[in-house]
Amino acid sequence: MRPYLIFFSIVVLALAGFFIVAPPIADGQFNPVSKNIEFRPAPYAQQVHNHLFVADMHSDFLLWQRDLNKRHERGHVDLPRLQEGNVALQVFSVVTKSPWGQNYVENASNSDRITLLAIAQRWPVESWISLMDRALYQANRLYKAKDASRGKLHIIQNKRDLDRFIERRADDRELVAGVLAIEGLHALEGDIDNVDVLYAAGYRMMAPVHLFDNELGGSAAGLEKGGLTDFGRQVIRRMEQRRILIDLAHASPDLIDDILLAAHTPLVVSHTGVQGTCPGPRNLSDDHVRGVAASGGLIGIGFWEGAVCDTGLDGIVAAMRYVKRLVGVQYIALGSDFDGSVRTPFDAAGLPQLTDALLAAGFSEYEVGQIMGGNLRRVLRASLPD
Ligand SMILES: [Zn+2]
Repeated sequence: MRPYLIFFSIVVLALAGFFIVAPPIADGQFNPVSKNIEFRPAPYAQQVHNHLFVADMHSDFLLWQRDLNKRHERGHVDLPRLQEGNVALQVFSVVTKSPWGQNYVENASNSDRITLLAIAQRWPVESWISLMDRALYQANRLYKAKDASRGKLHIIQNKRDLDRFIERRADDRELVAGVLAIEGLHALEGDIDNVDVLYAAGYRMMAPVHLFDNELGGSAAGLEKGGLTDFGRQVIRRMEQRRILIDLAHASPDLIDDILLAAHTPLVVSHTGVQGTCPGPRNLSDDHVRGVAASGGLIGIGFWEGAVCDTGLDGIVAAMRYVKRLVGVQYIALGSDFDGSVRTPFDAAGLPQLTDALLAAGFSEYEVGQIMGGNLRRVLRASLPD
């Protein structure tokens, strides 16, 4: 072969690897399931589970190039697996920037691996540069999935949508509702009016920060870990005016304190652990658990080791039991972090396992119903715009 042909072939192979082979491999490697846990729920638990309104407060599905309507062997969430797990409602959270070497202790804001992912997954060119365009593109992916779902996927933007969905789902257990959320309002690119742009795109839950400090305030994993800035205060006010749920996940302790004081609406922590069962900077202190409960909000307990100090189900149950004892069962929700670059004990189809584990741990059927989704449904009904 002539040298230029060899060179050309290598370039084509490298590009094919980067654009076609690498994204699914990264997806599978970043979002594994602990297959070693073989666990079948008891028939009674499965029966209880089949009658619940199951709702999860945090999945990063939209970051990955996976068809929501098809069943996959990799990652945690797709429509068939949500249906198998009897999930009625899934919050789809969008990530727009995440640092290289991300960790729970200290991240600078000057690097970003989503850029590479956006290019490798062939997102539109605008989204390679603009965080706002990344948010809008990922929202659009959910709408496209809805259009291709043959009426099975619904997107909830207001109270009416939710009520209608609950009514319809009573007749069709295959219906799944999606709610759009975002983690990290660096996506606003410093412009408060972009809150309205995201709202118009359907976003109804927003976490001010993600893994690094931004214009709104400090991250639990940032360098300064500061409180709410003036801009952050304006954004919180705008979110409350629009009835957008404020998500304290990833916020620094100072930022949580400031928002607990500044906000007048129920606050949620979409995916977290609690220091009472799993110490560490990523997880909530007792005072903050009490503060969130006092706001009438929710604590979404995560399913991964960094949140619950366990790779199985026991840690999830222990965290839920702890929050129940501290403030009451009505403040507990699921905050799986499915597809959030974490290993979980099961994927969306495996959620009956959690119902089983909670029943076995002595939670009543009513309490299990609240935790598995009843509480999130209640808070969404009270918080969403009319
Ligand atoms: Zn997160």
